[in-house]
Amino acid sequence: MPQEVQADLWAEVVKSRKKRIIMNEEKNKVVIELDNVKRYFHVGSEVVKALRGVSFQIHEGEFVTIQGTSGSGKSTLLNQLGCLDTPTSGEYYLDGVPVRKMSKSQRAHLRNKKIGFIFQNYNLLANTTAVENVELPLMYNNKYNSKQRREAAIKALEAVGLGDRLYHKSNQMSGGQMQRVAIARALVNNPAVLLADEATGNLDTHTSFEVLVLFQELYRKGHTIIFVTHNPEIAEYSSRNIYLRDGKIREDTINNNIKSAAEALAALPKVED
Ligand code: ADP
Ligand code: MG
Repeated sequence: MPQEVQADLWAEVVKSRKKRIIMNEEKNKVVIELDNVKRYFHVGSEVVKALRGVSFQIHEGEFVTIQGTSGSGKSTLLNQLGCLDTPTSGEYYLDGVPVRKMSKSQRAHLRNKKIGFIFQNYNLLANTTAVENVELPLMYNNKYNSKQRREAAIKALEAVGLGDRLYHKSNQMSGGQMQRVAIARALVNNPAVLLADEATGNLDTHTSFEVLVLFQELYRKGHTIIFVTHNPEIAEYSSRNIYLRDGKIREDTINNNIKSAAEALAALPKVED
């Protein structure tokens, strides 16, 4: 697609999303709600207050970056959102369901059904093809037989632009391709929320922007994304930014001027071989 056309399209997207945010944000379903969530760690005789009372709501279709310096509580917060950890106090509602009151197995089930995770180091199975990696979350889903699993995995890989790498093994791929596989794996179950912890942290600038382009495409398609990063630049590409400091929210702002990652990518200086 010529760059000007892409830029025009992007302007349209931004305009329509803005309208949606202003008009419909309130009406969109709340997928995540935190109510005064605290998480304290006891280390010897000391108490580390990683989260000191965090409250927010996230609506369907938002692309939220969670920002803050190292040690501000970002990963602890994401672990709460991903049901990987339980708060010391406060309540977390995922799709309206209070997570604390669930049993361990209910929570694992919910996590598998509602949440897609993307990690900094991809967490792919080594020596395993892209398609097998993406099929993995569906193994626990008895609605899929092996043929349906394969079809869903192929569709997810095509959606992240890896239709021509289906049978490549993880060690035969670049960092950017591995992260795309990880994103396809997170998407294959059609989760309510995508959670990413420093998803571009291991990637060079060019590849980071490629991955960011993909996240913006997912956002445009209506996915709900929560993207943790220590890199303030990334907040220019999301629809909302929550800034954490010392386990508390210091700022929570809607971005009415979302930059296009595709444009930024096109404007990057060409890499010399
Ligand atoms: P970030 O991801 O923003 O760098 P973290 O959420 O990892 O921050 O950590 C927030 C604070 O909580 C830090 O002071 C960290 O040392 C502490 N912390 C995180 N996890 C644990 C743990 N399991 N035990 C003790 N302290 C922890
Ligand atoms: Mg962290």
